[in-house]
Amino acid sequence: MFNPSPLPVASRAELVAALEHADAPSLALTLAHLTGDPSVLPALGGGGSWLTTPQGGIPPRERARLRSLAAEVLAPGGAAERAGDALPEPGLLRALTRWALGEDTTALLPMIAEDLAGARTDPKRPRWRRQPGSRLSVAIVGAGMSGLLAAHRLAQAEVPFEIYEMGEDVGGTWQHNDYPGCRTDVPSQLYHYSFAARTDWPDHFCEREVVQGYFRDFAKEFRLVEHIRFRTEVTEAAWDEEEALWRLRMRTPEGEREARAAVLVCATGQLCRPSFPAIPGRDSFAGLSLHSARWEPGTDLTGRRVALIGTGASAAQIVPAIAGRTARLSVFQRTAPWLRPTPHYRAPVPEAERWLLEHVPFYREWQRFWLFAPGIGERGVLDGWIVDPGHPPTERAVSARNEALRAALLASMTAQVADDPELLARVVPDYPVGAKRVLRDDGSWLRTLRRPDVRLVTERISGIAPDAVLTADGERHEVDAIVWATGFRASEFMAPMRITGRGGTELSESWNGDARAYLGLTVPGFPNFFLLYGPNTNLAGQGGSIFYFSECGTTYLLDALRVLQESGARSAEVRGGIHDHYNAWVDQGNALRPWGFSGTTSWLRNAHGRSAQNWPYSAAEYWRLTRGFNPEEYLIR
Ligand code: NAP
Repeated sequence: MFNPSPLPVASRAELVAALEHADAPSLALTLAHLTGDPSVLPALGGGGSWLTTPQGGIPPRERARLRSLAAEVLAPGGAAERAGDALPEPGLLRALTRWALGEDTTALLPMIAEDLAGARTDPKRPRWRRQPGSRLSVAIVGAGMSGLLAAHRLAQAEVPFEIYEMGEDVGGTWQHNDYPGCRTDVPSQLYHYSFAARTDWPDHFCEREVVQGYFRDFAKEFRLVEHIRFRTEVTEAAWDEEEALWRLRMRTPEGEREARAAVLVCATGQLCRPSFPAIPGRDSFAGLSLHSARWEPGTDLTGRRVALIGTGASAAQIVPAIAGRTARLSVFQRTAPWLRPTPHYRAPVPEAERWLLEHVPFYREWQRFWLFAPGIGERGVLDGWIVDPGHPPTERAVSARNEALRAALLASMTAQVADDPELLARVVPDYPVGAKRVLRDDGSWLRTLRRPDVRLVTERISGIAPDAVLTADGERHEVDAIVWATGFRASEFMAPMRITGRGGTELSESWNGDARAYLGLTVPGFPNFFLLYGPNTNLAGQGGSIFYFSECGTTYLLDALRVLQESGARSAEVRGGIHDHYNAWVDQGNALRPWGFSGTTSWLRNAHGRSAQNWPYSAAEYWRLTRGFNPEEYLIR
């Protein structure tokens, strides 16, 4: 099902027709690879603005040249046939990747080569196996993106494991977020495991059902389902020092259960539990009350007067999907979102492009790489995010580059509502680009807000009455239903699970709302305990995918288990000094990013004002730090 091998090119007519739909930078990289000639790469345009420049800014004339070259290279007897199945040699790979990233990639080549080879040879798979008599066993909490991945890697290493999942299905956040309009905001060509690619994504950004289907297929194909205990909520996990293992208590429909394992992996992520704001009278509402992350399937809002609270990523998908069905829709905005132009956001992948993905050798790999490129190094996403004290940073922009991004996004928004300056003034954010997640925009957000049956309310909500939302200007907004698109309790990692480590220390008490971990993975005082999608592993921009970070974390986890087995030790616990030093460095980075600098509200900062969510550096940096477990950083007992 995953990674179908490319088929031979069938007919020239088909090829020429399909090439009309090629993504120019991906095609350019493919051709340079297949011909071995980097001089075929055209100049990139758009000042390198990853956020706003489609097709890498390659002009139409150059795109036509690439298509003609492709017809030759991919014809029977052409260079593609002679190229074979190998990745480019290092010199060529350096030239290609330097072109895409706009920086020297010498140090990044191992990471890039590993990802490019992912779908063909899965170089990240563990090369070791559990030995007979080994005491390794793993309990995984959560069957979402990270939990399934860890399970698959453990299965490859023949380490016994069980997954405990409180829901009824796999997919984690995708299982629970079943609201109208739900889809990814990271391209599907990137939003998957590197070693389990698909060429047949129906949309560029697939709908929730497709993403959920991917996880189901994955769990089935790799025979993980039989290891999952569904409807099983882990309530407590305690480290048993004498036995050197974790004891788990869980709630199941059949009653309380207990389990034990040498290693505990918490893969519950950051976007698990819904957040409801503490608005006076919230519980008094007598109508239908729905949270985006706990949507009741089959809920019909047709003909109802609906209040939707929030204007984040969830709201941006729900509002266009329900407007028109509702009798009236009032959208309550506290802070406006920045919108990133993505005209194909809700568009299907044309048949012809799917044909290219299936037939043209390495096109799929290079397209994934091109989508990932802005997140890999220092010159892509990060370049626009770094606070420049010399600029000087303000709530408008944190650097000249960030100011340029602001100008580009503002121009795009202005073009959409130029005839309505009053609306424009209300939808333009008053904080730097990047201080909150930038939302994908195909025009439907502002178009929907302009509908006669939709109203954007920017007055502060002062309370909720049984039949209305009340605003500070004294207005009663009478409604039949409230949709809470108010996000997640992202700072409360793993809550309400009680996790007790060495000496009886309870994790959430010791964190006190300010979660920290070494590499987002391990915590002092908690031996043989690993988090996946833990503190400070969230991505800053749209230049990568959280799958990548989970893959890095899982590589590290498996290497830690290998070291444990080889050393004959029973436990590994990160040293406090290593953990503290690392977190100081992460905090330093985050303080110089828009989400750390800006005073605007967001889930990217906790109640202490610290960003315990985002990773402030490049994806390559996280890869470098997690590619191997260093026992010197741990107390190995
Ligand atoms: P969110 O980004 O935290 O947005 C919550 C919204 O609720 C914000 O607009 C917030 O306003 C508003 N809000 C909270 N309390 C409020 C109050 N008292 N009065 C008025 N408004 C209030 O949550 P989300 O939209 O669910 O997204 C969370 C994250 O989930 C995203 O950043 C993304 O990482 C992920 N996500 C991804 C997708 C996808 O497409 N793949 C879709 C949905 C979510 P303020 O901005 O003023 O705080």
